[in-house]
Amino acid sequence: MKQSIEELKQLIDRLEKEHVLSKEEFITLIDNPVPELSEYLFEKARGIRREHYGTDVYLRGLIEFTNYCKNDCYYCGIRRSNRNASRYRLTKDQILACCKEGYGLGYRTFVLQGGEDGYYSDEVLTDIIRDIKIRYPDCALTLSVGERSYESYLAFYEAGADRYLLRHETADQVHYGKLHPPALTLDTRKQCLMELKEIGYQVGSGFMVGSPGQTSGHLAEDLLFLHALQPQMVGIGPFIAHHDTPFAAEENGTADLTLFLLGLIRLMLPAVLLPATTALGTIDPAGRDKGILAGANVVMPNLSPREVRNKYLLYDNKICTGDEAAECRHDIDSRIRSLGYQVVVDRGDFKQITGGKKDVSCEINQSRRIYQP
Ligand code: SF4
Repeated sequence: MKQSIEELKQLIDRLEKEHVLSKEEFITLIDNPVPELSEYLFEKARGIRREHYGTDVYLRGLIEFTNYCKNDCYYCGIRRSNRNASRYRLTKDQILACCKEGYGLGYRTFVLQGGEDGYYSDEVLTDIIRDIKIRYPDCALTLSVGERSYESYLAFYEAGADRYLLRHETADQVHYGKLHPPALTLDTRKQCLMELKEIGYQVGSGFMVGSPGQTSGHLAEDLLFLHALQPQMVGIGPFIAHHDTPFAAEENGTADLTLFLLGLIRLMLPAVLLPATTALGTIDPAGRDKGILAGANVVMPNLSPREVRNKYLLYDNKICTGDEAAECRHDIDSRIRSLGYQVVVDRGDFKQITGGKKDVSCEINQSRRIYQP
């Protein structure tokens, strides 16, 4: 049955009020991302993000410290089987140099992201975490290093890591099996996310939009999974095929649907930290700007050393991988200002909502200032 635009808007009104819809209702919205409805959604999403975060946009300095990975996800350009990937690892000194450069540029969150690389044992990684936190105690440290044991997660947390990103990618068992080899399971992924929450991390999850075999039913399940998880961060981006993977010939996801889902997520999880991702900027040159206007409040520029940036290619045509990446920081700042928002020098922690009021107790007590290039 075809819904009228008014009926669709009523669903969005209810999502704004109740923060959740049924699976069928989500499917109805996802199947109808017409421009009029998207605009209606984005306006509400901007209003909600403004309520919680004003016009602030938070920066995360991304340090891609290893592109070795023991896994073989079918969509990923640095999967183990890709013999054409030129592999690298950063030393502790190189990582600290990235932090130093980032700190000077106003970054107050560093994200250590890498493949699942056994070289970085718990001992090696905790040593790096400790050193970063000793040198930059006013900064938050986010890890994105995949599935590890509870003991490893706990050791990293005790060493000073504040946040952890682990996308679930798809909340549907069968679809998960189409994107990953049998060694990886959705149950393990969910178990890791629960353990990270239990330990006390600010947790981020998320999924690809338009991945091979994905249906609007899967996307609705993704939204319901995120609603149940109540993560502090959600990262979504369009699927983009990498030429050296089994999905080389698959169609890419679209910016429009990704933006629509960003808006829905803002209404569902009002205070969530929501990045306008690099993948969104890759599929559409204005994608990150549009992401901010659809309710996103975070950007994650690349702080990795220039010489390795073009080696961490999870998908084709990734932006900001060459010399131009250094300029990204200033470019992003002026683009954000032109949208009516401002990049701030701030850890950018999650703002808890209790009883309709914001509880900012997890925020570090420090003066926030507008970034001046
Ligand atoms: S998606 Fe992550 S875990 Fe999977 S192969 Fe790529 S880097 Fe490894």
